[in-house]
Amino acid sequence: MTTSPAPSPVAAARAIDLRKTYGRGDSEVRALDGVSLDVEAGRFTAIMGPSGSGKSTLMHCLAALDSPTSGQVIIGETDLSKLRDKALTALRRDQIGFVFQAFNLVPTLTARENILLPLSLAGRRPDAEWFDTVVDTVGLRDRLGHRPSEMSGGQQQRVACARALASRPSIVFADEPTGNLDSTSGAEVLNFLRRSVSEFGQTIAMVTHDAVAASYCDRVVFLADGRIVDELRAPDRETILARMSALQAAAIASASPAPGSAV
Ligand code: ADP
Ligand code: MG
Repeated sequence: MTTSPAPSPVAAARAIDLRKTYGRGDSEVRALDGVSLDVEAGRFTAIMGPSGSGKSTLMHCLAALDSPTSGQVIIGETDLSKLRDKALTALRRDQIGFVFQAFNLVPTLTARENILLPLSLAGRRPDAEWFDTVVDTVGLRDRLGHRPSEMSGGQQQRVACARALASRPSIVFADEPTGNLDSTSGAEVLNFLRRSVSEFGQTIAMVTHDAVAASYCDRVVFLADGRIVDELRAPDRETILARMSALQAAAIASASPAPGSAV
């Protein structure tokens, strides 16, 4: 009997040679310059890199909020470039959750209404058991009747996380979800995201600047100048910080003239 090699993890989302350019000629910016990435199913992936390295652009292309200049994005088995607007909207609604840095809750709606809004808009009935599970995991049971202005930043972001998970999407994207939070509130949000991966098998990809936030993840992918330049598995804070410093040093070295070169 032959033993087959260990199966490679299934990708919940794939980027294949993704390129995105803004502007033309002298003002052309290559926000993504050939990114290929498998976002593994049932794992928590962090995307890190300096400001302007293309993290948000990558996340928006993967989440079907923006379209690449070239290359492919595959969500599950679906190639997004093959979809027309209507099908793209349906896929975004049914299969993708998004958490923004600025929460983006509707101020006039209660927490419960905010969480259920995407389902209401889609004309779908919420799964009551799943709703209860999500609400209890984020610890919002006693806040469901509150409006965003009556909640702390951490509570508002937990509502936004619950909203992203309410439809049981195949993948959740989070762009700096703890960027506007103090460290205690940030830890609450990160604990929830971690639990939704470990306990419910959710797939999450999160952009972050913060080595502590990234240390909650299973894998960290580093971007620089629109390219993937490094990655870590089962990262801890110290290893992430060391890797970030090394990348920063490399960037400074490549940007400054070599010693002795003419100025
Ligand atoms: P990050 O999230 O890592 O800070 P972004 O993905 O936002 O980086 O941006 C990557 C690059 O693309 C930057 O140089 C940025 O200035 C540029 N960029 C992003 N969005 C636009 C846009 N709408 N128009 C022109 N340039 C853009
Ligand atoms: Mg960004």
